Amino acid sequence: MQVKLAGFNIDSEIMQQLDPHGRRHLTPETLSAAYARISRSPLSIDQLRKKACLDMEKARKSNQKIIFEMGHHSVAEHAVFNFDIMGVSRLALEEIEKFRLVSYTEKSQRYVTLDGDFITPAELKSPALKKVFQGTIKKQNRFYFKAFAILNKRLQDQHRELTRSVSGRNLVEGWAKEDARYILSLATSGQVGMTINARNLEHLFRRFRLNPRDEVRKLAEKLYALVLPIAPSIILFPEPSAFERETFSTLDKCFRPVAQKAETPFSREPKIVSFSENGDNLILASHLSVSQNLEFARAMNTVKKVSAAQKKLMFMDFFRKIQFFDAPPREFEMADITFQAIVSAANFAQLKRHRMATLLSGPYIPELGTIVPASVTAAGLEKEFRQIIDTTNSAYCQIKEKSGAAADYILTNSHCRRVLMKMNLREMYHFVRLRDDAHAQWDIRNLAHRLSEKIKTLMPLTAMMLCGKSGFTEEYKKIFKTPPPD
Ligand SMILES: Cc1cc2nc3c(=O)[nH]c(=O)nc-3n(C[C@H](O)[C@H](O)[C@H](O)COP(=O)(O)OP(=O)(O)OC[C@H]3O[C@@H](n4cnc5c(N)ncnc54)[C@H](O)[C@@H]3O)c2cc1C
Repeated sequence: MQVKLAGFNIDSEIMQQLDPHGRRHLTPETLSAAYARISRSPLSIDQLRKKACLDMEKARKSNQKIIFEMGHHSVAEHAVFNFDIMGVSRLALEEIEKFRLVSYTEKSQRYVTLDGDFITPAELKSPALKKVFQGTIKKQNRFYFKAFAILNKRLQDQHRELTRSVSGRNLVEGWAKEDARYILSLATSGQVGMTINARNLEHLFRRFRLNPRDEVRKLAEKLYALVLPIAPSIILFPEPSAFERETFSTLDKCFRPVAQKAETPFSREPKIVSFSENGDNLILASHLSVSQNLEFARAMNTVKKVSAAQKKLMFMDFFRKIQFFDAPPREFEMADITFQAIVSAANFAQLKRHRMATLLSGPYIPELGTIVPASVTAAGLEKEFRQIIDTTNSAYCQIKEKSGAAADYILTNSHCRRVLMKMNLREMYHFVRLRDDAHAQWDIRNLAHRLSEKIKTLMPLTAMMLCGKSGFTEEYKKIFKTPPPD
């Protein structure tokens, strides 16, 4: 066996310290070119890499040929880029974080004191509307600082045992910030560290170029300008196709009359809209089929003949050694759950981070109401909070009429959208472990908890241990009558 370290991502500040001649050769394209030739060349991988480094022009031509002419786009996945993206709105961050095969880390609003920085969208051309926009955001931000000071004082008083240490005081302060930020707008600026391979980046360019918002299209231009000189041979299809441009336009035309008649009464209770019927049997039969080399239909018939009591004992044995950090095996991906929920922007900011899922989301609209944190109500601030929401909604309507895409920026973290999300049971375990947890933010925790309760009734055996990290010991004791193993 021979293993070589072929490369790794290096900070660009360090690259700048190299002499200009050395820097000229710094590109991830050589790795893509070398790996692209593995399947057809008699040479070893390290020899292919050496050749690519010695003749970069040839490597670039080879990449273009393999990606463009032969359609092997996956070779672009071997080229990886890191970007510091700063000073973008929360709304643009949502667009950035739509890409599932990409890594992101953003600053939590729990750990920053927002200094009132916000983006004024370029679509907002009229000075009068700009004044409405900026005036509304200033009101929101003023309330944020006021609410934060009041909530922080109340919470520090309520949690005296925690505030004896600096870390405890910071934790409590984080809760106050988390709740106060429900009044902050989606124009508030943020930052994210993003690691993305060239194939996903190309996909991002195509999507962003179709985005209705100038800010998002400009971001695509900036990213493209940074990558092009370093790796011209692997981003070959940055322009959206005709299909991508038109995807839903005809369907939307057909549905327009229906949409206009759509009723708005709604419940905030998340709903399971579809799920794998008999998920418990499906998961058991999947394992039986692959482990015993049986046709799936035969495996399912066998599973169906096992009594409910016996199956319960089988799953109790299966889960007996599980600990809170253990993930159920891949067979649990055979059962799907799709739910619909109305979530606040604060809640969505965390929901969207769960990437092993299909997440569709509608627009934020004032008609779906707002989520007011219980701490804001308890502090006697709800009336003022709602007054600012009324001002925000009226600014939204004025801007929507004249400058469409700019209006969403004025809405707040408390405004809501409808989401439709599909996860398999394995991802649902991961989601619920992290989010129905004492350390998780309350809004997403409520959602995860409600979903978990519903799923337990649909897949009672396989979802037996579906619970948050902090509730794991109690859940285990309820089922097994003993504490979980060490
Ligand atoms: C209490 C709490 C605080 C948090 N604070 C912050 C914060 O301050 N800032 C912040 O940015 N995030 C924060 N997060 C979000 C967190 O880091 C995760 O992004 C989020 O919980 C999604 O889970 P996940 O990354 O495990 O993956 P999911 O997207 O749910 O995917 C499931 C699993 O698939 C695998 N996977 C998915 N994508 C990749 C990939 N690209 N490469 C390799 N493996 C992958 C991993 O094994 C992962 O566990 C916080 C989460 C919690 C619960």
